[in-house]
Amino acid sequence: MSSNNARRSAIQAITTYKAGEPSFSFSETSPAEIFGRNVFSDRIMRERLPKTVYQSLHKTITFGERMDPSIADAVAAVMKDWAIEKGATHFTHVFYPLTGQTAEKHDSFIMPDGQGGVITEFSGSMLIRGEPDASSFPSGGLRSTFEARGYTAWDVTSPAYIMENPNGTFLCIPTMFLSWTGMALDKKTPLLRSGQAVNREAQRVLALFNVHTNLPIVAYVGLEQEYFFIDHNFNFARPDLQIAGRTLFGAQPAKGQEFSDQYFGVIPQRVLSCMLEVERELYKLAVPVRTRHNEVAPSQYEIAPLYEPSNLAIDHNHIIMATLRNVAKRYGLKCLLHEKPFAGINGSGKHVNYSLGNAELGSLFDPGETPHANAKFLVFCAAMVRAVHKYAGLLRATVASASNDHRLGAHEAPPAIMSIFLGDQLTEVFEAFRAGRAEDTQGKKKRRINVGVDTLPPLPTDPGDRNRTSPMAFTGNRFEFRALGSSQSAASSVTALNAMMADSLGFAADWIERELANQVPFNAAVQSFICHVIEEHSAVIFNGDGYSEVWHKEAHRRGLPDLTTTPQALPELTKPDVVDLFERQGILKPMELAARQDIYTDQYCKTVHTEAKLVIRMARTVIYPAGMRYQGELARTAKELLAIGKDARTHTLDEVTTHLRTLQTNVVKLEKLVQEIEGLSDHSVMAQRYCNDILPIMQEIRTAADALEVLVPDDLWALPNYEEILFDK
Ligand code: ADP
Ligand code: MG
Repeated sequence: MSSNNARRSAIQAITTYKAGEPSFSFSETSPAEIFGRNVFSDRIMRERLPKTVYQSLHKTITFGERMDPSIADAVAAVMKDWAIEKGATHFTHVFYPLTGQTAEKHDSFIMPDGQGGVITEFSGSMLIRGEPDASSFPSGGLRSTFEARGYTAWDVTSPAYIMENPNGTFLCIPTMFLSWTGMALDKKTPLLRSGQAVNREAQRVLALFNVHTNLPIVAYVGLEQEYFFIDHNFNFARPDLQIAGRTLFGAQPAKGQEFSDQYFGVIPQRVLSCMLEVERELYKLAVPVRTRHNEVAPSQYEIAPLYEPSNLAIDHNHIIMATLRNVAKRYGLKCLLHEKPFAGINGSGKHVNYSLGNAELGSLFDPGETPHANAKFLVFCAAMVRAVHKYAGLLRATVASASNDHRLGAHEAPPAIMSIFLGDQLTEVFEAFRAGRAEDTQGKKKRRINVGVDTLPPLPTDPGDRNRTSPMAFTGNRFEFRALGSSQSAASSVTALNAMMADSLGFAADWIERELANQVPFNAAVQSFICHVIEEHSAVIFNGDGYSEVWHKEAHRRGLPDLTTTPQALPELTKPDVVDLFERQGILKPMELAARQDIYTDQYCKTVHTEAKLVIRMARTVIYPAGMRYQGELARTAKELLAIGKDARTHTLDEVTTHLRTLQTNVVKLEKLVQEIEGLSDHSVMAQRYCNDILPIMQEIRTAADALEVLVPDDLWALPNYEEILFDK
C-alpha cells in the first residue's frame, strides 16, 4: 500500500467502504410497479386527456402527423397536474446543444396570485415553446448577437418525465433548440428531420415491392454504453482525471488486461450495488435497460437497453449517462465516460445498433423466407453498402473528437477507415450477382443468381462470425456501427446514417422506376440495381481483420479514406457531396453544416488546449518536484558514500537526471507553443497545430514522467498509480 497521504486515505476509504440502505427492494415492489412511474406515458395520456385531445396527440406521435396547436392547453393542464402530484415544483425544456451535453433551465409552476398567495401556472404555449437565454451556447455564427435568444420547441415524440432529487422533483420536457430564423442549434432537430427523409425514401422502395404499411418507417437504435467506475478518491487526487476525464500521466501497471480475467467476470459488489440502483432509477424513466457486464479492461463495464426508435433511444442514452454519473456518487464511485481514460488498456465506445423498420414490418435488414422478401432485404443491404462507400468520410466525421482519436485505430476499436462487414455468406450472395452479370457479358460459367427466378441460398440470420474489428458490421437483422465514442451523443451518427440511407434508397427507387419505365421486368430491375451497387461499391466490403497492417495497405489501394485524426475528419462535413446530401434531404442547410464543423473544430482545440495546460501544471507542480527530491537524495547519498571511501555509482541518479531534463525542456517548449497557438484565430489551422505540434510534445513529457514514476520512491509520488486506480474497488 502507498505511504503517500492522499493515496493512503483513498485506499482507506475503499477498504472501510460500507454500502448504504437500498432505496427500495424488488421483493416488496415489483419492477412492473416501478417501470415508467415517472413518465408522462401513452397510458397516462390515454387515461387523463380528453378523448379527442388524446387521439390527436397519439396520431402525431405514432404517424408523425403535424401537431394541432389547439390541443396544447389541454395537454399542458393535464401534464402540470400529473407533475405536481409527483411533487414537481418546476418544469424545464431539456435540449441538446452542439456541445454534446444535455441542457436545461428550470422555471417554476408557481406564480404569486397578487393577494399574498400563489397559483400554479403552465399553459400550452409554455409547453410548446421556451426561450432560454441560451446565447452562451456555441452557434457557429448561426445566430448573430442581436437575435441571440434561440428558442426551444416541444418534441412531442419523446415523452415528458419527472426527475427526482432528494429535495424535490421537476418536470422535464424534451425539446428541439432553434434560432429565430429556423436554424438548428442542436443535435435533435437534424435527427428528427433525417427520420422524415429516410421514411420518405424507404416507403418509395417498399411501394415498388408492393409492400404497404400504415406506420412510418423509423430508424431503430440500440446503444451499448461502455464506461469505467473507479473510486472517487482517486479522481479527487488526480487533476487530470478530474478536469480532462483521462489520465495524462501514468506508468503501465504490472498487470493490465492481458489475462482477460475481467471480461464477463463476476461484478465486484460495490459496483454491482451501484449498477442495481442505476437500473432502478432508469426503470422509473422507462429506459428499457437489459444487460450489464464487465468489459475487457479492468474497472470497465457496459450497460445496454433494448433498442427503441432512434430519437427516444438517444434521449434515453443521455439519461443513462447522467444517471451513471449521479448514482455513482452515492457509492463513492466516479463514472468515467471518456473514450480513453487510461493508456495501454481498452477505451470505451458506444456501439450503435441500427435498423430500419416498424412494428408492422419488423426490421427491413432481416432476411426473409421467400425470394421476394430476400430481394427486398438485398436492396436495403445494398443501399447500406452504397451509403457507407459513398459517405465514408461523413460517417467518420460524426465520431470525430479529441477524446475518440485516442481510441479509433488503437487495436481495441475499429480503425478510422470506414468499411462494412457483411459476413462470408452474404458477401457470397452479392458476389454471385456480380458473377451473374459477368456471365452475361463474358459467357463464363459461374454460379448465377437471378432475383425472383432462383430461390436465393438461405441467407444468414446470424452471421456466426462476430467480427469485432469492423466499424460497420451486419449482425443478422441490423448493422452495428462501432466507431462512436462512449461520451458522444449518437445523434450525429444516426442523423448521418438516416441521411445516407435516404440517399441510397432514393437512388434505388429512381433506378428501379427508370428500368420499369423502360419495360424492364421488376425482378430484372432489382437485379440490375444490386449488380450496379456491387460493381461500384464493393470496395467498401471487408470481412477480414480491420486491425491488420495488410488491411490498411489494401484500403489505401481501394481508395478508402483513412482519416486518422479529428482535424483530418471534420472538413468532411462541408465537402460538396455531403452539403448536397443534407440539403437535398432537407436535413441541414450549408450554413448549418458549416457551423457544426466550426463548433466541433473549436471544441477539439479547447480540449487539447486544456489538456496541454494540465500537463504543464502537473509536470511542474507534482512530477518535477518529486523527481527533484529523489535526485537530491541520490546525490547526497553518492556524496556521502564517496566521503567514506566507498564506490558511488550514479546509474539511477543519471537516469533520473536525464528524465528530469527531458521533462523540463519539453514543458518549456510546450508552454511556448501553447501561447503561440492561442494567438491564432483560424480554428482549423489551430486544430492542426494542436494535433501535429502539441499532442506529440505532451506525449514526450508523459514518457519522461512515466519513466520517473517507476524510479522515484513511492512515498514521494503524489499521484495514485494505475494499479491502485484500476484494481482497488
Ligand atoms: P451484442 O451481442 O452486440 O452484445 P446485444 O444482444 O447485447 O448484442 O444487443 C445489442 C443491442 O442491439 C441491444 O440494444 C439490442 O436491443 C439492439 N438490437 C437488437 N435488434 C435490433 C434491431 N433490429 N435494430 C436495432 N437494434 C437492435
Ligand atoms: Mg454489440
